[in-house]
Amino acid sequence: MTKRILLKLSGEQLQGEFASGFDPKRARWIAEQIRPALDDGAEIVIMVGGGNYVRGNQIIGQGIQPVSAHNIGMLSTLMNAIALADVLNDAGLPTRALSTVEVNQFIDHYTFRRAISHIKKNRIVIVACGTGRPFLTTDTAALNLALEMQCDAVVKTTKVDGVYDKDPMKFPDAVKIDHLSYQEALTNPNIAVMDKAAIGLAMDEHIPVIICDLLTDGNILRATRGESVGTLIS
Ligand code: UDP
Repeated sequence: MTKRILLKLSGEQLQGEFASGFDPKRARWIAEQIRPALDDGAEIVIMVGGGNYVRGNQIIGQGIQPVSAHNIGMLSTLMNAIALADVLNDAGLPTRALSTVEVNQFIDHYTFRRAISHIKKNRIVIVACGTGRPFLTTDTAALNLALEMQCDAVVKTTKVDGVYDKDPMKFPDAVKIDHLSYQEALTNPNIAVMDKAAIGLAMDEHIPVIICDLLTDGNILRATRGESVGTLIS
């Protein structure tokens, strides 16, 4: 059975070795991680974040209205989508970027039918601008899109190999959790791998979420095959 996967790539993943902005080398790595999954028959929809440029919450104030700040955050995701689509196409992986906000000069507007049509033609679809609405994150947008696109699972790549009982960057004795219930992911205050709205959506609609390390070779393929990798929230 063909697996359709929603891959959530945060801005941090796309900035690679840089302090901010978009790292084409990292994007090339992502292309090479996605390639075997496509060869294996998976269909890939990507939601990109924008934290490598700016998140809405970072610039609210001193006259900048929250709505404007979040709109600017969404524009950050647009830059990532445009750049990532170019790198994936250049790597020989047919890809189309679509935006939930109309920016027709740059990329096509997202519609469900357009996205499905690209997927049916074996193209990767990258979605920019999250939900197109302020006060949300691209994690929530990713879950929302996964439901709309009838994905079998959401794969969120991170810098660590899954979810830990406490922050593994701060606590060396942190223990990795292989499986988490939605309820635990939602209520445990130490688990901040995804925002609660996103987890709530996953729980309501019973869609599995896999959290895994982007930089471990083969993780994306393993996750799309349903093999054990990182942490499964289900
Ligand atoms: N954003 C928004 N609505 C959405 C998705 C994102 O307003 O549906 C804004 C929000 O300000 C967010 C920014 O876009 O901070 C960038 O997205 P996010 O923080 O999720 O990026 P990531 O942390 O994944 O890089």
